[in-house]
Amino acid sequence: MSYSVSPIGFVRSCFKEKFAIPRQPHLAPAARGVLELLPPFDQGDAVQGLEQVSHVWLLFLFHQALEDKPRLKVRPPRLGGNQSLGVFASRATHRPNGIGQSVVKLDRVEPGRLWLSGIDLLDGTPVLDIKPYVPYADCVGEAVNAIAADAPRPIAVDWLAPALAQAQAHERRLGEPLVALIEQCLAQDPRPAYQLPSPQRRYGAAFWDVDVRWHYPQPGRICVLEVVEAARHA
Ligand code: SAM
Repeated sequence: MSYSVSPIGFVRSCFKEKFAIPRQPHLAPAARGVLELLPPFDQGDAVQGLEQVSHVWLLFLFHQALEDKPRLKVRPPRLGGNQSLGVFASRATHRPNGIGQSVVKLDRVEPGRLWLSGIDLLDGTPVLDIKPYVPYADCVGEAVNAIAADAPRPIAVDWLAPALAQAQAHERRLGEPLVALIEQCLAQDPRPAYQLPSPQRRYGAAFWDVDVRWHYPQPGRICVLEVVEAARHA
């Protein structure tokens, strides 16, 4: 038996590629985006009352990780990428039906558009449903997860002075908290845990329309090297 679902909208996100997106929502409060609703949900009626809600659940498709053959086991990055786990014990993107769920902050509502922050969603993510977060039911005080007990410990992020000046200039142009976004995302250490980076190795990711380059001058420490417009990067 099969059922079909259709997106109710798509997310325009600060994240233009999967690399360096935090592994869960809230880890980067400066990660912002807009959920653009499709007809008929782009009418005011569909979001009436939502202005009374601070957070929403988004159910969405991992559209860049869909696979034909279901996996039973996955290797979550949190466990270093070399330990496997049952797919249902993990929040990995490769899963049956490719459905993701995130609680995100709802900053503003208008007909056809929801402004969101703290997102962990790639640009263009198809959203299947929106539900208000209900604190008394959704916040489980005694909940335990021994696999992911705490948020990952952030690592130190330093800047070369010219890179910080570049980021501040792009922040003014974009009207987005770019410096905080870069710091919050890089503090999650996006590098695969099995890679031991030499100080010579350069890493990069795109946020909004800029490319950010960084390296690891020493283990557990990131230094941002440059922040340039994506198309103009050499
Ligand atoms: N909070 C969600 C959940 O638990 O279902 C997502 C968790 S998943 C581990 C988060 C990762 O999904 C991000 O780091 C990003 O790399 C990836 N991701 C986000 N949006 C995606 C999309 N549309 N397609 C494929 N991968 C995506």
